[in-house]
Amino acid sequence: MENKIPVGISACLLGREVRHDGGHKHSRYCTEVLARHFEFHAVCPELESGMGVPRPAIHLREFGTEVRLIESKGERDFSAPMEQFIAGALPRLGHLRGYILMAKSPSCGMERIKVHNQAGRVIRRDGRGLFAAALMQAYPSMPVEEEGRLNDDQLKENFIERVFVYDDWLRNVAAELTPKALIDFHTRHKFQLLAHNEKIYRQLGPLLADLKAQPLEALADTYIRGFMTAMTRLVSRGSHVNAMQHLAGYLKDGMPAEDRKMLGEQIEAYHRGELPLIVPMTLLRMAQRREPIAYLSIQDYLSPYPEELGLRNRV
Ligand code: SF4
Repeated sequence: MENKIPVGISACLLGREVRHDGGHKHSRYCTEVLARHFEFHAVCPELESGMGVPRPAIHLREFGTEVRLIESKGERDFSAPMEQFIAGALPRLGHLRGYILMAKSPSCGMERIKVHNQAGRVIRRDGRGLFAAALMQAYPSMPVEEEGRLNDDQLKENFIERVFVYDDWLRNVAAELTPKALIDFHTRHKFQLLAHNEKIYRQLGPLLADLKAQPLEALADTYIRGFMTAMTRLVSRGSHVNAMQHLAGYLKDGMPAEDRKMLGEQIEAYHRGELPLIVPMTLLRMAQRREPIAYLSIQDYLSPYPEELGLRNRV
């Protein structure tokens, strides 16, 4: 694919031997499937903060309100070089459209990381790796996911959809912010937003109704944070049915009665869990191709990512 989308990744997931023991955690899905669409930007925070390979295993240890990065079987504190690395690296990551992190790492782990007390005993399991925490704080709208969670079809589909949407935002709105760019983006993604989170859908439309109410940058920032928050919610079958019925409403006049009936039946069968999303969606796309409706031709919902990823066959 030309113009691949830049996405950050924990370097060990690309098969690079950067782990503390000189090993890697190669993810074939990342290097063989996603790499066809994503240009990976690999980062190993521990290596790049000067810890070297091999290096002692480290973990998170809590000192009062502070969580520090300490040698698991010793007392050496690696927090300062990690913080220095993070401060230098983060400003260079703003162009990324998403980030895939290695799970369970005190540097890269996104969630459920063990936190130890000063004696080295586990006191909780709700920590976040220091690099992951800083990344997610610096770029709250950026889609971030752990590689292991991509084994779940719904989480995978959701993450990839978010990466493509965020790419659209950075390329076509943030790069040169204008009222038109913002409205066009909202129009392109209306049905996706409706499917993911109807409540936020109903909030963001009115937010754009008065573009002079506040400076455009501030409004765009509020908008994209709300939008990307909405997109993190997995779409239920009921919500897809709702969005597809909306789409079908636009298309029904151009469809023969027999096709309308079949579409209705397939949407119902999808709702009951008997068919994957791709089936009714393909009928909608065929109807749109036969009798195009201009408003629908720009809707990303009909084709949010390359079909060859096969994501809608599995949700
Ligand atoms: S999890 Fe992160 S810090 Fe650990 S080896 Fe992989 S990239 Fe490096």
